[in-house]
Amino acid sequence: MRERRRTTAAGTRATLRGSGREAILSIDVGGTTTAAGLVSPDGSVLTHVETPTHKAGPGTALATLLDLLQGLREAARSRSIDVAGIGIGVPGAVDADRGAVGADINYVPELASVPLAETLAERLRLPVFVDNDVNVLALGEWMFGTGRGASSLVVLALGTGVGGGIILGGRLHRGGGGYGGELGHVPINFDGRPCICGGRGCLKTYVSGTDIALQGTERLKRPVDAATVFLLADQGDPVAREIVEEVCQALGAGLAVIVNGLNPELLLLAGSVAKSLKPREREIRDQTGRYAFARALASTRIEILSMDKDATIRGGAALYLYQTGGQA
Ligand SMILES: [Zn+2]
Repeated sequence: MRERRRTTAAGTRATLRGSGREAILSIDVGGTTTAAGLVSPDGSVLTHVETPTHKAGPGTALATLLDLLQGLREAARSRSIDVAGIGIGVPGAVDADRGAVGADINYVPELASVPLAETLAERLRLPVFVDNDVNVLALGEWMFGTGRGASSLVVLALGTGVGGGIILGGRLHRGGGGYGGELGHVPINFDGRPCICGGRGCLKTYVSGTDIALQGTERLKRPVDAATVFLLADQGDPVAREIVEEVCQALGAGLAVIVNGLNPELLLLAGSVAKSLKPREREIRDQTGRYAFARALASTRIEILSMDKDATIRGGAALYLYQTGGQA
């Protein structure tokens, strides 16, 4: 069974530093790629590996996870590093108390309803914590990154899908059933496009990489990905520009929901679509201004994260430290 430790911040630090070199095994499970690494308690990434999530075929994510964890454990042993525990982010809602993946995990369906923490803890004899991938990223940015010291922070991750992570008053907001932070699925158009979540007009259906590519393919009348839509817009293609303007406006409405609803000190945009939007930061702020209270917007700093590949890995370590009381 999973060991659930709750110690004081000072106590955890003493534990982590007591036996010399210690590290946390960290995993970010993605729909396509899974990244993993060994992270020291100060957030330094000691090793980083990536592998296709379904390298042994569809439905094999759990085998990939076990493989990665065992490999990293070996790597730690060979470098005389003690492994304190494991932190994992998955792309869906999670019952974080039990470390169980929820039913709504679209990109890695074989993990739906799997008691992941318990399963891995039994195999590896280590404490395991599992949470939503963007919650994990938010914890990582808050503990080790751009959000250090912020009392409230929201991360909106715009990639294949759209997810969110909310930290308020120094606590991660998970909500009653683990859906806290599902900001990609706030409806911004009550009669809009149907969404994979079963809803309609969700922010995700306007700003995710998948949906931008779909819109591009439909309206440009040839298969394109999201990056190509942005590129064509930069080159002056009128149809691509129209799509990108729509993305900025939809994002402005979505950000206004966050600004008016939570008014966080810091609002960070992450993911591949956010990266493409970097040159349009001004336009996004203007669009947000059309929907948000001016004073609320003025007191929320919005930033596009220039994320390095280690950011999600640091998040897994942050989750472990957060759960064991290591944050302070
Ligand atoms: Zn939705």
